[in-house]
Amino acid sequence: MAVWNLGSINADMVYTVPHLPGPGETLAALELNRFLGGKGANMSVAAARAAAHVRHIGAVGRDGTWAVERLMEYGVDTRHITVSEEQTGHAIIAVEPGGENQILIYPGANRVLDMDRLNAALSEADAGDTLVLQNETNLQKEAVQLARRLGMRVAYAAAPFEVDAVNAVLPSLDLLFLNAVEAEQLRVETGMSPEGLPVPEVIVTSGGEGAWYFDTKTGQSKHFPAHKVTAVDTTGAGDTFTGYVLAGLDRGLPMAQSIAQAMRAAAIMVTRHGTADVIPDLKDVQDAAL
Ligand code: ADP
Repeated sequence: MAVWNLGSINADMVYTVPHLPGPGETLAALELNRFLGGKGANMSVAAARAAAHVRHIGAVGRDGTWAVERLMEYGVDTRHITVSEEQTGHAIIAVEPGGENQILIYPGANRVLDMDRLNAALSEADAGDTLVLQNETNLQKEAVQLARRLGMRVAYAAAPFEVDAVNAVLPSLDLLFLNAVEAEQLRVETGMSPEGLPVPEVIVTSGGEGAWYFDTKTGQSKHFPAHKVTAVDTTGAGDTFTGYVLAGLDRGLPMAQSIAQAMRAAAIMVTRHGTADVIPDLKDVQDAAL
């Protein structure tokens, strides 16, 4: 079994600044650090850390080979990541001393994925494999339809939230991940609450409150409380959670156990600064005293 991820790959350029720049202001940054990011890359790393076979489908520019190498180091199969003429997707993140930030994202290569390449990649998938997507690439609708035809499990994380993007894939999903803000946006824009969605299984995460699982077929739901930890940086918590749930399912664990393991991984994650580079591995997750 394998987890296929049609996902974004970003260079997160984090500039430490004395204060956030105003309109027209020119400001010298004090420090620059480059990290691997993008929801897609984060989820691939999380699922690989959770011992799944992960095959990432995506693209970088010529300036992004370091990101592909980093994914490879974390155990992700990168054969289906192409190098395009576009620039690597990136986020320019300014952070001031109090932690307040400003983020500018350029999707770049993430939005010019090629249908032929997607077809070629998924021609290697087996029925029962998982396809996961987020809303940071093109070809989402095409990918879910193809995956359905191939008999794959199709999972979608509705982030960044866009109602049209969700509606385009909703009828073809097996499993939908929403955070609390996205669930509320979906309710406001479509009138549908998680338990009433036309998707068999829905998971809603809500930070320190944990997560809710909805089996919309039977109407059953279950709350999984979060572990009590001191959170220092919650970026990437949701992506880690999603990657771990999918890896658990792919490894044959029941849903409840997959969620419980993901809950432990995400709790560890919020105690660490950083994103993809600090996602805990399965041993860390199993051994942690939570
Ligand atoms: P997102 O990062 O997508 O906004 P959430 O904030 O809902 O996602 O967090 C995802 C998961 O991470 C939660 O369901 C929980 O398991 C874990 N988590 C997030 N914040 C905390 C916290 N403060 N303490 C413990 N676990 C947390």
